[in-house]
Amino acid sequence: MSLRKPSLGFTLVCVSLFMAAVGAFLGLGITYINEVAIEKKNLTSDFSSKAAALAQRLTPNYVSKLERNDPAAVAEMTNLLTSINYTRSNEASSRITIYRKEDQFSRPDQIFTIQSPSFSEESQTKIAEMLLDVITTERPIIRGFANESEPYHENAKRLRFSTGNQNESSTTLRAVFPAIINGEHTYLAAEAEVSPDILTFTNILQLQHFFPLLGIIPLMASLIFMSAWFSNRFKGLAEGMNTVAEGRYDYRLKQGGPPEIERIHCSFNVMAESLRNTTDQFHASIKEIQVAQRQAEVAKGAKSDFLANMSHEIRTPMNGIIGTTSLLMETPMTSEQKELVQIMRTSGQSLVHLINDVLDFSKLESEKMELENEPVDLVALVEETIEMFAYYAAESQLELIYYIEDQVPNFIFSDRERLKQVLVNLVGNSMKFTNQGEVIITARIASRETSSGSEPMIRISVKDTGIGIAPENQERIFEAFTQADTSTTRQFGGTGLGLAISRQMCNLFGGELMLNSTLHQGSEFYFDVPFREVPQQGAIKPQNLIENQRPLHGKRCVIVTRNKALTGLVQTYLDSWQMETHIAETYDQNIGDQIISFNPDLVIADPMIMEGDEAIIQFADKLNQHMIPSVFLTALGESSVRLDELQHPLISILYKPISELKLLKEAVSVVQRKNGIEVPDHAFSAKGTEATLPHDQIAKNYPAKILIVEDVLMNQKIAAMVLEKLGYQNIEFAINGEKGVARVREGDIDLVFMDLQMPVMGGIHATEAIRKNFNLARQPTIIAMTGHALAGVKETCFAAGMNGFLTKPISVSDVKNAIIAAAESAGHPANA
Ligand code: ADP
Repeated sequence: MSLRKPSLGFTLVCVSLFMAAVGAFLGLGITYINEVAIEKKNLTSDFSSKAAALAQRLTPNYVSKLERNDPAAVAEMTNLLTSINYTRSNEASSRITIYRKEDQFSRPDQIFTIQSPSFSEESQTKIAEMLLDVITTERPIIRGFANESEPYHENAKRLRFSTGNQNESSTTLRAVFPAIINGEHTYLAAEAEVSPDILTFTNILQLQHFFPLLGIIPLMASLIFMSAWFSNRFKGLAEGMNTVAEGRYDYRLKQGGPPEIERIHCSFNVMAESLRNTTDQFHASIKEIQVAQRQAEVAKGAKSDFLANMSHEIRTPMNGIIGTTSLLMETPMTSEQKELVQIMRTSGQSLVHLINDVLDFSKLESEKMELENEPVDLVALVEETIEMFAYYAAESQLELIYYIEDQVPNFIFSDRERLKQVLVNLVGNSMKFTNQGEVIITARIASRETSSGSEPMIRISVKDTGIGIAPENQERIFEAFTQADTSTTRQFGGTGLGLAISRQMCNLFGGELMLNSTLHQGSEFYFDVPFREVPQQGAIKPQNLIENQRPLHGKRCVIVTRNKALTGLVQTYLDSWQMETHIAETYDQNIGDQIISFNPDLVIADPMIMEGDEAIIQFADKLNQHMIPSVFLTALGESSVRLDELQHPLISILYKPISELKLLKEAVSVVQRKNGIEVPDHAFSAKGTEATLPHDQIAKNYPAKILIVEDVLMNQKIAAMVLEKLGYQNIEFAINGEKGVARVREGDIDLVFMDLQMPVMGGIHATEAIRKNFNLARQPTIIAMTGHALAGVKETCFAAGMNGFLTKPISVSDVKNAIIAAAESAGHPANA
């Protein structure tokens, strides 16, 4: 339970009451002390006058009567004794003594004494002391409160706290008077005890003493009134603030009251007014922003429509240019003509590349890009990317290697094309900006901290030993159309869009593209993709199968290459195959002899460690003669040496970039060959690798009657030529969707390539018509072929019933892959 804080008014009243009580107590205390003083003074003067009157009466006759105990004289003295009564009762508590001194030198004698029964003091010591003083001075002495050694306040205290025991607390008044009778010195000593009762505190508590306190009452009333008034004002102020806080900025407090309060109200009103103005401005700005935002959205839409249309318009003629140049390359030409056609084709391709980049960028900017979520074979994807650069790597003597950690699953859910696009861009950049050394692609398991714990990710990295990027440029290069050093544009070309697109794509994957780089030493770009394994792919990678690795277990292998990274990679593989590895850190032309004397079970060597073709052949001959199985890692076009397989049966040539599987296959083959065992190729195949089929085998494996529905004659021709390259014949054409539908209706068409934008009837309608409007014994496979690369088009095609999707300009391998994929998705596997 929480205690409520007391209100300000209540606190003020309580504090005032307390202070008034303290004041009253102090007042009464002072009054008390004052009264005690007056009372004492009165008692003392009464006592001294009565004692003086008695002394006057001491005639010689009277004194001698007393000496003789004359009853009348004693009675008179008794009367006097009772008159000096300072007790609350009728009986006095007093004593009278008379002394006489014969002459100047004699001692005073006590000649008469009388005391009331209640007089408590027995000794006469104090009186004797006073008597001596009086004898010297011949003047009366009175002692009591004022002359006592005890101070007043001590008395007062004793009286105040009296227990009623008179002996304990009474005070005694004493007086000694001189009287000379017939030459004889006579002295009267009177003593009277004062009862404490006559000075009690209750005497003070009389009504009249409280009258001054009545003055406090109006003060209290005004205090109560003031606190109520203040409480009220504060309440009003708080209500006003609440009202304003709720958004009613037109609320105002009444002006008036004392200047301080008026000032507070005035400031409050000014504040409310300024809040109202600010809010009005704020609302106006929001409205303006909303209008601007709507306008920007309209402009953005217009921009992406424009880009989509432009890209379509540019792609169509580009399709023609690239297609015809590809076909032209296949015809007999002089070498000069060939070079010119090659330039035409490369320029055309880079133009299409640029258009794709701009289109991607605009899609990413307008958030129109949607990711596919399909099973992706990561190893195949990396190998495919690397293959694209293999030739260039060999030409510029760069090692292009990759390593995929065993824990990385074979298949993950991702967007294959986008992933490849990012990888191609990163590898392309690394190749472009690396003069010597290597470019390494790795895929590893990493983890990322999220609010719900750590989440596994696959970290893909592309690392090079190139020119590096200065720290001040490391963030800039991710901006669109920005390059680290503008001079690179001239040297290497490029638009500065690649990294901007890649970073946004990585964000779409759910990760971030990051960079570590040191100028002149190299760069590493890396990003994380979520670890979403495709469950049904439980098959173990062939390179991970123990029975595949077994022939190598425990065997000794020597590695000798020109590149440390490559050696490291090979060593990692050998370690995982449980081989004993020996690395030749340095080598010379005698390395062959050294290896032979070491007599390993396997040699993995880069033949280019030997200088000159002759030396390479000798090296190979030596190894072969000594029956040492060897795998030579070489790059396409690196050396003109051709080793004869028959002459060198224990030497296998492996073209870079190497993969674990390829290396394992070659290593096992040569090791087993020494044992007289021939390892068949299929022993290491994981799955049907139809995509590796030679082009002209496609028609054999996927026989089909093909119809091309396309309105542009040149495109018809290019598509037909590409298909002929894949071995297809008797290809038919339709110039629009309607004609296409009519041809399909006849029933013998197996595969349709369908353009989307055509007069009379477009590809989507035509597909819908084919799928819905008539019963065919066998539905054809339909592959879209379009220049439209905008988001959503692919989905529309599949929704309409198509089986595949190709963007123009088309290439032989695109068409080949599309045929295989569509046939498999439509349930027509390849002919055995
Ligand atoms: P582009 O390569 O088309 O110019 P990018 O956006 O891909 O555009 O790259 C932007 C710039 O970043 C490049 O021009 C280059 O200066 C720098 N850069 C990218 N990758 C590397 C790399 N691996 N090494 C050195 N510099 C690089």
